[in-house]
Amino acid sequence: MGDTTAVRVVRDDREPLVIIDSVNKHYGDLHVLNNINTQVGRGEVVVVLGPSGSGKSTLCRAINRLETIDSGTISIDGQPLPEEGNGLATLRADVGMVFQQFNLFAHKSILQNVTLGPMKVRGLSRKDAEEKAMALLERVGIANQAQKLPSQLSGGQQQRVAIARSLAMDPKLILLDEPTSALDPEMINEVLDVMIGLANDGMTMLVVTHEMGFARRAADRIIFMADGQIVEEATPEQFFTDPKTSRSQDFLSKIL
Ligand code: ADP
Ligand code: MG
Repeated sequence: MGDTTAVRVVRDDREPLVIIDSVNKHYGDLHVLNNINTQVGRGEVVVVLGPSGSGKSTLCRAINRLETIDSGTISIDGQPLPEEGNGLATLRADVGMVFQQFNLFAHKSILQNVTLGPMKVRGLSRKDAEEKAMALLERVGIANQAQKLPSQLSGGQQQRVAIARSLAMDPKLILLDEPTSALDPEMINEVLDVMIGLANDGMTMLVVTHEMGFARRAADRIIFMADGQIVEEATPEQFFTDPKTSRSQDFLSKIL
């Protein structure tokens, strides 16, 4: 596999949902993803940690095919990622993505933000899409804001809408790339609580975050990246109490 440098102390016997095999990507001279090998099991919550610029967002974007890769393969539920065409719309429906900036449609109501994808991509009727959207908005605690515009909501509320919008597509997994990094501190927990609820419900999640409390509590596994490589994979218990590499020890000493 060519990953002899990474320290891997986790063995998970879940059926893999995402398989990332020998993935490389460059931006010019920068080797931004350097021989990435890992898997995400069905129902697993993987937290990706690492310093800024280590390739975490690029990895997320590659899994959703928002970025191409130079070599290697990524497959989801046994299917290699599509190159072009309709397959991409299906992939993006199957793989939810929540960004640091919530990326809601500014001129659409909260309800419309959540119903659009299911109607367009999944072919739901308006009635079914609205019923489903309201149930999801209920689940993330903002059903009473359904008729408002995104700008009328707080950042934490908008991010919870973004999560509901992802869920409305019945995704196989959700990628969350620093979902709380743009939020005022008092709004972080309301979003983390929704994420913990998803994790407890068995959603497969890959989460890039600097929220170590969430990582400890919700992660089945930590992936630590530096300089485009997976340097260490461990359970939260292992990673936070006994990090094996100098890079991870250094990282933890700076943030804990
Ligand atoms: P992280 O999310 O871990 O902070 P990123 O995946 O965003 O890291 O970026 C990894 C590296 O790739 C950084 O050095 C960043 O500057 C560089 N990079 C990201 N996107 C591009 C791009 N579109 N073109 C050139 N360099 C990029
Ligand atoms: Mg990033």
